[in-house]
Amino acid sequence: MVAEQLEARGITDPDVLAAFRTVPRHEFVEGDEPYGDHAMPVGSGQTISQPYIVARMTQLGRPRGGWEGARTLEIGTGSGYQAAILSELGADVTTIERHASLADDARRRLSDAGYDSVEIVVADGTEGWPAGGPYRSILVTAGGPSVPQPLVEQLHPEGGRLVMPVGGREHQLLTLVERNGDELQSTELEPVVFVPLIGRYGLRGD
Ligand code: SAH
Repeated sequence: MVAEQLEARGITDPDVLAAFRTVPRHEFVEGDEPYGDHAMPVGSGQTISQPYIVARMTQLGRPRGGWEGARTLEIGTGSGYQAAILSELGADVTTIERHASLADDARRRLSDAGYDSVEIVVADGTEGWPAGGPYRSILVTAGGPSVPQPLVEQLHPEGGRLVMPVGGREHQLLTLVERNGDELQSTELEPVVFVPLIGRYGLRGD
C-alpha cells in the first residue's frame, strides 16, 4: 500500500509514510481488502477514503513545527483510522463524530490498537470544539459548501492549517487554508468525493 499507492503518487513526507506503515488499517476497516486502493464502508452509510487521500490530507495538514504534541482536530471520526494516523505521528488529537454508534466503535478500535490518548467527542463538528483550541491542524473528513466559520476561529493564528473537501454533495475540491493572524490563505487542490458534512455550518441532513 505504502509503495504502490502513496510513494508512487507523490506522498514524500517520511513521517507520514512511517505512520502508514505502522497503523494496522485492517483493525479499522472491515471487509476483504482493507488495504485496497478505494473508498470503503465504515457503517451508518459512511465511507473512509482510499489510503492515498488520507495520506494526502495528512501531508497537507502538517503543522508548522511538526506533529509532535500539536493540538489537532479531526471532524468525522468514522472508523478512527485517520485519528490513529495522527496519533501515531505524535499529534494531540481530538476527533468529532455525529453518529454515536460510529464513535463507540472507533473508541474501541483506537483503544485496542493502543491509541488511548485520542479524545472522541459526539457532537456537530461544524461547530468545532473550542475547549481544545486553538488547533495547529484541523482535518475535515467530510465535504461541505464552505469552511465552517467556527473552525476558522479555532485555527491557530500562527500558521494553523486546515484541510477540507469544499464543494457540493457530488464532488468537492480538496482545499487547504492557512491562517496567519486574521489573514487566511486558501488554496484549491484536486477534485475529491467525500460523504456530506452535516451540521449547523454544513449541509442539511437527517
Ligand atoms: N476520517 C474517517 C472517515 C470519515 S467519513 C476515517 O478515518 O475513517 C465522514 C464522517 O464524518 C462520517 O462518519 C460522518 O458521520 C461524519 N460527519 C459528517 N458530518 C459531521 C459533523 N457535522 N460532525 C461530526 N461528524 C460528521
